[in-house]
Amino acid sequence: MSTHEAAHGLASLAVHAGQQFDPTTGAVIPPVHFSTTFAQDGIGGLRGGYEYGRSGNPTRTALQQQLAALEGGAHGFSFASGLAAEDVLLRAALQPGDEVLLGNDVYGGTHRLIARVLAPWGIGLRVVDMSDLDAVRAAVRERAPKVLWVETPSNPLLRITDIAGLAAIGHEAGSLVVVDNTFATPALQRPLALGADVVVHSTTKYLGGHSDVVGGALILDDEALAEQIGFLQYAAGAVSGPMDAWLTTRGIKTLDVRMQRHSENAGAIASFLEGHDRVARVYYPGLASHPGHELAARQMTRFGGMLSLALESGEAARRFAESTRLFQLAESLGGVESLVNYPDAMTHASVRGTEAAVPVEVVRLSVGIEDVDDLLADVEQALR
Ligand SMILES: *Cc1c(COP(=O)(O)O)cnc(C)c1O
Repeated sequence: MSTHEAAHGLASLAVHAGQQFDPTTGAVIPPVHFSTTFAQDGIGGLRGGYEYGRSGNPTRTALQQQLAALEGGAHGFSFASGLAAEDVLLRAALQPGDEVLLGNDVYGGTHRLIARVLAPWGIGLRVVDMSDLDAVRAAVRERAPKVLWVETPSNPLLRITDIAGLAAIGHEAGSLVVVDNTFATPALQRPLALGADVVVHSTTKYLGGHSDVVGGALILDDEALAEQIGFLQYAAGAVSGPMDAWLTTRGIKTLDVRMQRHSENAGAIASFLEGHDRVARVYYPGLASHPGHELAARQMTRFGGMLSLALESGEAARRFAESTRLFQLAESLGGVESLVNYPDAMTHASVRGTEAAVPVEVVRLSVGIEDVDDLLADVEQALR
């Protein structure tokens, strides 16, 4: 990317970064490159560094440049899924005997990956409430973790962690500070600028944005770690395929306008729910009553499309989740369509009974970009 492009705003970068038109035809949209192999001009004479589809593919390069530009990082890597990206990052950063200090309110699959896949290979796991920096400081003082891993806003309780504060604590202890930015996206929050070392994404969610492609990404500045990650991406092979990379790139171009609408709709629904007598609690950082509201207002540009609510019982929560009509009952989040999820039995079933378990009264909403009046009417009838 040229320095000229680096000065552009987020919405411009989303449309243009990595998207140079095709020099041979002038096609404004770069073609999808399905070729698994690339002709060489004499042995080892590669054109643009391309050799074989696992080691590099121009469509994947375009996505990786777009991702790096959006997060303001020097290096972007895309993978077959968010968990594939996490797996590569953890294997690149950790050695047997090292430990991860993980937020207590994270994607269930992240906890499972560390606790059940990496732990048998000698990786330690401790869990702490990352939004409580005193608790983090105490945990780090007890034993310095190799990796500090946080989601902010967290999933599904929308806790807010001070990224700059966390980075300061982590760096003093020599830890790598990782932020899963799936919920906020770079349209609302840029963790690298706040001091984080690595940004993780499930691009399956808001970046892809249309619930039609699974993928993951890592963005970082550090050269040595980037080299390790690039090696593992190639040597272990969990790359994104060309069609997946292209769909993700296409989704990202509208990220900024989608996040505006997601945030507006979620804000309206959160305000409505907060005033409703059947609702025990609303978890949305845009509400002044949210404990992380002021911090979120400082480190995010808007408050995003995710919110959770607690009803009076687990039974009431299940009934609500099965009563919406426009909000479809499904796992995942971040698409243009609104979804409702019952974490205890769906997305977070794998952490039931652990320190990362979600209260049974909680229902999570991924608020889409439909007409807000229709969404409000749906939530209201489901509460009745
Ligand atoms: C979905 C999700 C993941 C995992 O990503 P996949 O693409 O499903 O592998 C990680 N973190 C968060 C916050 C997620 O929502």
